[in-house]
Order: sequence, then C-alpha cells, then structure tokens
Amino acid sequence: MTFRTLDDASDLAGQIALVRVDFNVPMEGGKVTDDTRLRAALPTIQRLRDAGAKVALLAHFDRPRGKVVPEMSLRPVVQPLSDLLGAPVRFAEDCVGEAAKAAVAELDAGGVILLENVRFHAGEEKNDPAFAQQLAEVGDLYVNDAFSAAHRAHASTEGLARLLPAYAGESMRRELEALDAALGNPVKPVIGIVGGAKVSTKLDLLKNLVGKLDRLAIGGGMANTFLFAQGIDIGGSLAERDMADTAREILAEAEARGCEILLPIDVVVATEVKPGAETRTVLAREEIGDEEKILDAGPLTVEKLVKGMALSRTLIWNGPLGVFEVPPFDAATVKAAQAAAQLATTGALIAVAGGGDTVAALNHAGVADDMTFVSTAGGAFLEWMEGKPLPGVEALRT
Ligand code: AMP
Repeated sequence: MTFRTLDDASDLAGQIALVRVDFNVPMEGGKVTDDTRLRAALPTIQRLRDAGAKVALLAHFDRPRGKVVPEMSLRPVVQPLSDLLGAPVRFAEDCVGEAAKAAVAELDAGGVILLENVRFHAGEEKNDPAFAQQLAEVGDLYVNDAFSAAHRAHASTEGLARLLPAYAGESMRRELEALDAALGNPVKPVIGIVGGAKVSTKLDLLKNLVGKLDRLAIGGGMANTFLFAQGIDIGGSLAERDMADTAREILAEAEARGCEILLPIDVVVATEVKPGAETRTVLAREEIGDEEKILDAGPLTVEKLVKGMALSRTLIWNGPLGVFEVPPFDAATVKAAQAAAQLATTGALIAVAGGGDTVAALNHAGVADDMTFVSTAGGAFLEWMEGKPLPGVEALRT
C-alpha cells in the first residue's frame, strides 16, 4: 500500500498544515461527552508541532447542510482539546476567507488553531472546486487524519488533497496499515465474522469477502436468512425471507471461490427479547415454535468458530453474533470475542474488527484493547470491507 505519510514531508518548520480531523464528537448541552476522537488526533498534532509547523484543524460537526447553525459550532471542542494537548488552542469563526487566513498567519511555530465547522459551507459536501481552492489558500500543506470521513468525496477530504501537498496523518496511517494487514495483504488463512441484523445492508460486503477469505462465519439476524434459504425452520425470527435467493447465490459463490461458510449449527431461541428471558438451545435443524425467535448462536457454533479462528492467522470481524445488547443473548458474541482476543494477545492471530455495533460489542465483552486493531470508523470501515475505493484515501496515494 503506497500513500504519502508525514515521513515524506520535509522541512515543516513555519509551514501551515491544514489537518483534516474527525471531531464529530458526542456532545450534550454544549459539552463534549466522549473525547476518544480528540485523543485520536493528538499524535498527528503533536508531531507537526514538534516539527515547528503551524497547525490549522479542519473538521465537520453534525449536519448543518451548508448553513451557519450556531448549535453546530465546533467552539465547544476548543477547551477539551487544549486540556488534552496541554497547550492553548485558538479558534477561527470561519474555515476560509480573510479572517481565517489572518488568524492562521498569527500563529507561532507549533501553534494550534481550530477552524469553524467546514460544513457551514455548501461547497464542502458538494466537493466544489472553488470552495476547495478557498480552503487551499489557508494552508501550505494538507494532512488527512480522518479515516472515518474518507468514504466521502468532500472538499476537505478529497478536493483539497488534490490542491496541496497531501499526507496521511498518524491515525490515518495506523488505520490503513491495519486494514491492509486484515484484507489487503493478509497473512493467510483468513477468517471473517460477519454478523448483525440484516443481509440487505451487508450484501456488497458479503460478496467481496467470499472472494477473499478462506472461511466466513455468518451470525446474527442475517444468519437466519441463510438458514431459511436452506429450508431450515426459523419460526418467528428476524429474517429477510425475500432475500433467500440472494443468500443462496452468496453460498454458491463462496463454494465456487473456495470460501468455507460457517452458519449456526445450534441456536438460542426465546419468545421475548428481554433481559434474563427464558431460553432454549436447539440444533439449527430442529423445529421451533412459530412464536419463537432465534436470538443468539449456540455453544456448538461458538466452538466451531473458535476452532476456525485457531486454524487462521488473520481475523476480520464486523457485526455481533446475536442480540448482544440484551443478556443472555450476548453469550456467543462475548465468547467468540474473548477467544479472538486471547489468540491476538499471544500473537497467534491478527485480529481486526470494526464498524458500528462491533466496537460496542467488543467493549461489552471487555476485550477491545486486546484486539490487534479496532476501527471506530463506521461507514468508511464498511465501505472498505466492501472493497470500494475510499476517495479520501485514493487522494493520498503516491
Ligand atoms: P448491524 O448494525 O447490522 O451490525 O446489526 C447489529 C444489530 O443486530 C444489533 O443491534 C443486534 O441486536 C442485532 N441482532 C443480532 N442478532 C440478531 C438476531 N438473531 N435477531 C435480531 N437482531 C439481531
């Protein structure tokens, strides 16, 4: 994988670095409630400061749709960022124009300024070349550290990278390296776990994976659709019964491409999705009641999956194996996550996970820190798993 990083940037002293970060943080009543994304930007900011650059941070917040919406200002981010950095952070009321240019010019070497929400301008999401040009006039070079926004071709993620010398920041670099190790150039054999609610939202992802993996475990609600497609009784389970043909096509494609599919061989059923509900564990081929729902994979399935992981060198995981938010339907997800984490800790398995609920599921299992890499990027991670080029990453290629 070849993309420009800060290692390729020479003589940064006195240069103005426009750094695209993801500061779309959870906020309540004007206060940042989770600073994970601010922390993620620190290595890049610090590296640029150490090199004597002037750092101008560019970010979006929420969806103002091209208008100035005061409640969607990035100003509340200034203080928590400054506290984390241990240095003052200035703020500019606009990300382009004379005021922005003047504020940035006033910075000392190593100084940091946060520019106002880039989505206050309609040109941002349209990737308008004139707006990208206005952004380019604020800085000397461009650093993209926002992998989670890289699936969008916006002015601050794509257009701008074409106008200034452009580099991947430290978080972006870590993310790209992990993703490459999981799916681009992985150590084989590779096993995938795809779970979650629906087949329809992960169709492209499944199609891409069966062509690349040695084994693929399918779990969660989407496994019900596959079981149904094989003529198995799924009672009142969540499933997309109209996607049975598609499910069969994916199974046929997997067989043709030599990808072994692991579907649940036993399942946990209940009539109600509530904490501590009464459950039955049955073999997948057994009949279940019309009012019963499959809500988790059973222990035999987990055992088979763990064996599959032990036979593999690389794991790529998206989506829970059951309704993990409601115990006891978290059991299969938690056991599989713990097994993956244990293999990753000993170095036997490169375990990369990400996308939406997966991070929550791994945190729930208490193993997020033991995995090789956990991506917190939702949409960008999924599009990458689908094999789609990400515009923000493509623009950084050498
Ligand atoms: P996704 O966003 O597609 O990854 O789906 C995650 C959601 O799938 C979680 O909220 C789980 O509760 C849900 N889920 C997983 N397994 C099942 C199942 N067997 N039946 C219904 N929902 C499920």
